[in-house]
Amino acid sequence: MHELSLSSAVVNTVVKHAAGRRVSVVNLRVGHLRQVVPDSLEFYFEFVARGTVCEGARLQQEAIPARLRCQACDREWAIEIPAFRCPTCAGSDVTVASGNEFEVESIEVQTIEAEEAQCIGPR
Ligand SMILES: [Zn+2]
Repeated sequence: MHELSLSSAVVNTVVKHAAGRRVSVVNLRVGHLRQVVPDSLEFYFEFVARGTVCEGARLQQEAIPARLRCQACDREWAIEIPAFRCPTCAGSDVTVASGNEFEVESIEVQTIEAEEAQCIGPR
């Protein structure tokens, strides 16, 4: 159900920014530490988007690798499995440098012209 609440947050954000325009693409940045299942997020997004300007929009998920930074020596490294110790100096005073992202990077909306073109479109 984690993905359901994340999907709701995405749709709410996008609806606000779209200001009534129909959304065709939502570009999302998802940090590895969020442990989001992409297929699941897409499924819930489609579900939550129904009846909003996001309905039928494509959800593009960019995976952001998890990185840590050592406060003592400034080394930064990528992690697959969380191991919160610096490989250079073995220090444990580290901060998460990336991997916590969950943000809408950008959206693509249809212009009024495009909507008209769609209405006129081939029969
Ligand atoms: Zn270090």
